[in-house]
Amino acid sequence: MKDAQLVSPVTATGNFSYLSERSSGENYILLGDAFAFIDPVFSSGVLFAMQGAFAGADAVETCLCNPQQTKSALKEFDQVMMHGPKVFSWFIYRITTPAMRNLLMYEGNDSKS
Ligand SMILES: Cc1cc2nc3c(=O)[nH]c(=O)nc-3n(C[C@H](O)[C@H](O)[C@H](O)COP(=O)(O)OP(=O)(O)OC[C@H]3O[C@@H](n4cnc5c(N)ncnc54)[C@H](O)[C@@H]3O)c2cc1C
Repeated sequence: MKDAQLVSPVTATGNFSYLSERSSGENYILLGDAFAFIDPVFSSGVLFAMQGAFAGADAVETCLCNPQQTKSALKEFDQVMMHGPKVFSWFIYRITTPAMRNLLMYEGNDSKS
């Protein structure tokens, strides 16, 4: 870093989560990081990517083999994709409240070593 030069202003961010408005469009589906990213601390990324891959494979198979069921298959896929980030966001919101922090950091907590 001795000879490093600052090439842009230094910035900080407190939240780089994102969630797509839709999980599919014409001839594409979105899953994994392409669809959402919730939180780096709680390690949800690989789980969401793999769950999305299973659900996405089922949806694509239906679209290819039974095109008349495309709409319902993509609707079901969308419900799966929206569910995970919603549940996880709630969990993160709760666990970062002062009450939970105080509980986990309490001196008398035997699990704290
Ligand atoms: C530093 C870091 C630490 C992380 N730690 C954890 C963790 O501990 N636990 C956890 O669950 N998650 C973690 N994550 C998040 C996790 O890695 C991602 O959420 C997850 O890998 C997303 O999977 P994905 O398949 O959507 O995308 P990716 O794993 O990014 O896979 C996308 C692939 O597409 C390829 N690609 C891109 N463009 C093209 C193209 N045009 N043509 C062909 N291929 C292309 C890329 O090379 C890549 O291999 C971490 C992320 C980072 C950055």
